[in-house]
Amino acid sequence: MAAQRTIGIDVGGTKILAGVVERDGTVLRTERRDTPVESTEAFLAGLAEVVDSLRDDSVAAVGIGIPSTIDQREGTSVFSVHVPLEGVPLRERGERYLGLPVAIDNDANAAAVAEWTIGAGRGTQHMVMLTLGTGIGGGLILGGRLYRGASGAAAELGHMVLEFDGPECRGFCTGRGHFEYFASGSAANEVADELFGPESDSRQLVAAARDGDERAVGALTQMGRKLGAGMASLVNIFDPEAIVIGGGFGDALDLLLQPAMETLRRDALPPGRDRVRILAAELGEEAGMVGAGLIAFEKLEG
Ligand SMILES: [Zn+2]
Repeated sequence: MAAQRTIGIDVGGTKILAGVVERDGTVLRTERRDTPVESTEAFLAGLAEVVDSLRDDSVAAVGIGIPSTIDQREGTSVFSVHVPLEGVPLRERGERYLGLPVAIDNDANAAAVAEWTIGAGRGTQHMVMLTLGTGIGGGLILGGRLYRGASGAAAELGHMVLEFDGPECRGFCTGRGHFEYFASGSAANEVADELFGPESDSRQLVAAARDGDERAVGALTQMGRKLGAGMASLVNIFDPEAIVIGGGFGDALDLLLQPAMETLRRDALPPGRDRVRILAAELGEEAGMVGAGLIAFEKLEG
């Protein structure tokens, strides 16, 4: 029998990136299109089109990574801000639509699996992934496997409390003082607005800091300290071998790392704080797609 492959689909708020994935994480061919957000039906039809354009007889399952909190018991997405999937039993409906076994997961979990398998975290047994984007996505590899928690919703590391009674979190979250309020790409966008005007975003902030603009360097130093505080808690709780930093704003890791490490060394306990490696993600925007494909292989085991 020919080797089985999967299709990994990374669903973003604006784009879908899909590819045929082999068991070792190799991507054979990819497809990209706009995310249909008008309705759940349009979304599922769009997924079916992408899958049809990629599938051949070797494709045995589909993995879908979505920017939503997942309830794996029901196969549903619980909160879904950017795509029309809230409360939708995506796993079951996807299997009916596509005629293949379907695995679903949070997009940051998918990215964590990919970075752990073939990216910056390969070779580790205990790894934390943080994707610094609109929010902060989180994924945990513990004891050599993805940790999903009791209901499948873990790990929402971006909603870790950094400041009691602090500023209101973003989007659906009712929390205050959460990690992603302080250290996400959105947080950097807001800092850029304050420094350079309302049309500015994190890219300008980072570029200005690289050019030596003192205000930009100062702002990113502050954000780096907060990133370090969050990472210190993760080190204290999980004692990981590595924390892998990805996402669009993760590209600024070289500017954030030194202040982050100063805080981490203060706030985290030995021996974890002295052993943990902070690594830049290696797979870029393909991480979610590759990871979704790798997670789909779970459907073919046992
Ligand atoms: Zn929150």
